[in-house]
Amino acid sequence: MKYIIICILFLCPAKNYAQIDFKTYYERVDNENILFADNNELCPVTYKFSLVLKNYKSSKGKEVEIVIPAKTKKFEILKLSRINPKKATSYKTKNGFLNLGNHLVEKHDDSYQYQLPFKKGAAFKIGQGYNGTISHHNKKALDFNMPIGTKICAIRDGIVVRVVETNYRGCAKRECMKFNNKVIIYHSDGSFVEYTHIKKNGAIVTVGDTVKAGQEIALSGNTGWSTGPHLHLVVFYQKMKKRKTIATNFLTNDGKQQEVLSAKKTYSKNY
Ligand SMILES: [Zn+2]
Repeated sequence: MKYIIICILFLCPAKNYAQIDFKTYYERVDNENILFADNNELCPVTYKFSLVLKNYKSSKGKEVEIVIPAKTKKFEILKLSRINPKKATSYKTKNGFLNLGNHLVEKHDDSYQYQLPFKKGAAFKIGQGYNGTISHHNKKALDFNMPIGTKICAIRDGIVVRVVETNYRGCAKRECMKFNNKVIIYHSDGSFVEYTHIKKNGAIVTVGDTVKAGQEIALSGNTGWSTGPHLHLVVFYQKMKKRKTIATNFLTNDGKQQEVLSAKKTYSKNY
């Protein structure tokens, strides 16, 4: 006999991602309770939780951190088996948290050559660089100073997982961060990139689009926490409550050389 005994729907306001389209539910099959997950997101989701069990044994222990692949229904997380058939049972999930991405990926492919985030023939100066003191403390993020409306190009192939483009306000204070317009793209190695401060209605791509490196994806702007028109660019791995940001190599000039970009330098793209 098989029936659904509980269903938990997660539409969590996880940091940076608004809601996450993910749910878990138990089904009873014979004498076991099986915990399944549906991940409707376009990238993996990592789910971490604890179990409080009475007279049950979990196939994955009581502290669980598991990665559910993108667009996957009925992914088996664990099985609960009754220990003593004559005794009462109970189970409870606590401290549940989830976020986008595979949080178990640790190693970025540092040999990957990223493209500069603008069109061939253009050149822009980096204002604030990696670990900059204005707003990049302990963050590997880059600010490309560029006029509002500049075409932003994808730095790597990927799939668009989030677009925010409805904001029009901005200011030079942290409190304006909630007005950041952005495009977030998931890469095949498990990393993400966020293109931030794009102008109102400035997204050229939509969620679910597959993009190629060099493809136009948005128009730059000055929305959110911003001291002037620029593109804030950050490559990162998502962890449960924060991001691990990454310094990457970019192809510069004619595309035959690669380098890590530095503040106050101007980089041209002729490829
Ligand atoms: Zn920035």
